[in-house]
Amino acid sequence: MKIVFTTALLLFTTTFVAQTDQKIYDIINAVSAERIGTDVKKLAGFGTRHTLSDTVSNARGIGAARRWIKGEFERISKNCNNCLEVFFQKDLVKKGANQRIVKDVWVYNVVAIQRGTKYPNRFIVMSGDIDSRITDPNNFTDDAPGANDNATGMAGAIEAARVLSKYKFESSIIYVGLSGEEQGLFGGQGLARYAAEKKWEIIGVMNNDMIGNIKGVDGVIDNRTFRIFSEPVPPTETEEQRRARRFYGGEVDGISRQLARYIHKTVKTYMPEMNPMMVYRLDRFGRGGHHRPFNDAGFAGIRIMEAHENYTQQHQDIREENGIKYGDVVEHVNFEYTAKLTAVNAINLASMAWAPPAPTEVGIGGIVEPSAKFRWKKSNDPNIKGYKIYWRDTTSPTWDYSRFVGNVDNFVLDGIVIDNFFFGVSAVSKDGFESPVVFPTKIFRN
Ligand SMILES: [Zn+2]
Repeated sequence: MKIVFTTALLLFTTTFVAQTDQKIYDIINAVSAERIGTDVKKLAGFGTRHTLSDTVSNARGIGAARRWIKGEFERISKNCNNCLEVFFQKDLVKKGANQRIVKDVWVYNVVAIQRGTKYPNRFIVMSGDIDSRITDPNNFTDDAPGANDNATGMAGAIEAARVLSKYKFESSIIYVGLSGEEQGLFGGQGLARYAAEKKWEIIGVMNNDMIGNIKGVDGVIDNRTFRIFSEPVPPTETEEQRRARRFYGGEVDGISRQLARYIHKTVKTYMPEMNPMMVYRLDRFGRGGHHRPFNDAGFAGIRIMEAHENYTQQHQDIREENGIKYGDVVEHVNFEYTAKLTAVNAINLASMAWAPPAPTEVGIGGIVEPSAKFRWKKSNDPNIKGYKIYWRDTTSPTWDYSRFVGNVDNFVLDGIVIDNFFFGVSAVSKDGFESPVVFPTKIFRN
């Protein structure tokens, strides 16, 4: 009797550990609103961080800002035994590249890589932006504090590095400040090109752009809701893939959408006080952000952002008109909210960097049969506990049903008819960390 009891208890413990991990709660608690506040003020204090602004001064302009950011990453690295590789990645953008490039300019990104112990060439990226602007996008001299847009995203990336540099991960994490955003997404383009040249395997980019405003122009005050923007399918898909989608589905199941669902699920599990809002589009209506150049290059990437924007406080000359105070100044930023959204990033970076590689060559079968069938290529990672099949009603945004099927390379879901659901497969580590879900792209008929 005693032995039976012990086994049952062990089983219970294993299941419990697989559901949540204390380390993730520790990461949430370690994110400091105070440090983020200090950094947002510091960044806003450079006067302007316009991409074309002064690069010589150590007090004002984008040169001073990027050197300070690099210095912060280097300081963090010193505190973790040089665990970060910190460098400038830069590209020359020539005058006339578009109307917002009125002179030749070197667009600098500040990159900090925390190298993975097992998969050094697999990356999960958290980005913010260095640069700022006011009403005239070409005004590179007047004050443009860009406190919310986008000192918040930049401060978040620095804070995530402080917190996560205390841990070791199997995959690499990149914390990056991009510039040239307001002039036409040049920094993102530069780094996406650099990543492709270096043959980086990018699992996902979490781009943070405006993560500090809780009072919307719509009058809503909300410090719980935030948006996750993701495009439906990659723009790099082929005509053949597009045709296949018509018959096999996948219109709302591209790689960026799976990343969005992953983040949504992690937040629902570990930060139930927050309200993640998936938005099924690339970005706001007709507007852009720095995840897009990564999407253009075929990488999964999403935008994390406040739910309620305030247009009197972004891209505005600092002024008062008819009793309304215009301008993106520090006093409008809610540091607690920025800290929450930074924690959202940090726990997803950690979860993915601790997870095994996602299954590859995921296939699905079961046409005119009573059960859906799956095949995939197993990884030989000894840390893999097994694979999990997910499914959902075709109208549901989230993976509502799942079954852990063990360390196998195929499975039949008895009695689940292929026509009535969408399906996907993820890999699960021994301590319960999961890869993003892979939507099957191979079809088999026997
Ligand atoms: Zn902006």
